[in-house]
Amino acid sequence: PTNINALADEYLRLAYHGLRAKDKSFNAELITNFDEQLPKINVIPQDVGRVLLNLFTNAFYATHQMQKIAKGDYKPMVSVTTTQNEKFVVITVKDNGIGIPDAIKDKIMQPFFTTKPTGEGTGLGLSLSYDIVVKTHGGKIAIDSIEKEYTIFTIQLPL
Ligand code: ADP
Ligand code: MG
Repeated sequence: PTNINALADEYLRLAYHGLRAKDKSFNAELITNFDEQLPKINVIPQDVGRVLLNLFTNAFYATHQMQKIAKGDYKPMVSVTTTQNEKFVVITVKDNGIGIPDAIKDKIMQPFFTTKPTGEGTGLGLSLSYDIVVKTHGGKIAIDSIEKEYTIFTIQLPL
């Protein structure tokens, strides 16, 4: 049984400090909204941790890319919410970063698909996440994004 809030908290720190270690100009406001009533669920914590680490790293990275092209008072922001419905624990990761262009929306889950320069991305994060969340844990992944506005990834894991 795993406390998803604690897991998310741990991997948020890892993602944030991992990016800052590589690039000191990296900075983003982090907003968390964890449901304190969230029940523990049976998952493989290392695997779900990898999913979260990738989602958080992608989100921070997207705000950093936006920061480079944004004019004026852009404020990079990542928010992570946990909640539950009848059947699932729901984890929502939202960023106000670069967004996903319509032209590549159907490609991002494919193995080795990346828009990042060599050394910064393998393109394996989301395809691995699909295997872990959907195939191994019987959960769901949904994506909503508008280019240069926002991206929202919603992960659902069975109660
Ligand atoms: P990688 O991070 O190594 O590129 P992923 O499978 O994690 O591989 O992501 C694949 C691609 O999906 C990214 O290169 C990027 O183009 C896109 N992507 C994923 N998450 C986001 C996000 N939050 N904002 C914008 N683009 C994203
Ligand atoms: Mg990634």
